[in-house]
Amino acid sequence: MIEIETKPWQTMVLHAERIYPNECCGAMLGHTSGESKLVTEAIALENAWAGAQGERYQLRPEDLLAADKEARTRGLDLIGIFHSHPDCDAYFSETDLKNSCPWYSFVVLSIQNGKFDHAHSFLPDADQTRAESEELKWPKS
Ligand SMILES: [Zn+2]
Repeated sequence: MIEIETKPWQTMVLHAERIYPNECCGAMLGHTSGESKLVTEAIALENAWAGAQGERYQLRPEDLLAADKEARTRGLDLIGIFHSHPDCDAYFSETDLKNSCPWYSFVVLSIQNGKFDHAHSFLPDADQTRAESEELKWPKS
């Protein structure tokens, strides 16, 4: 289970809506205890994909490394990656799976007509062949 606090959730939704109709991406920081994760900070990162950004995102390894460092200095862990699907459901695509890492939670936000619609979280397996869906809680307002 992954739960996202109000402040990081607002950062994620705002970033996704602002970048629409392109895909946005970013990092989620927080705490893990056993199977449950709590996201207390979200960092918006630049979509570094060189092609059409309405269908794909790419994280720079150095941006992810910086987010990981930032987490550590604050006593947090880098626990996941988020990205958006403009005018598309929040599913985990073949490309998403191929570019995933098994130790992170992947939150996908569906943005419909520029507004947040719904979200899901996924846990890719070690050989990146399938992603399990993970229970996701976000502040409803
Ligand atoms: Zn995707």
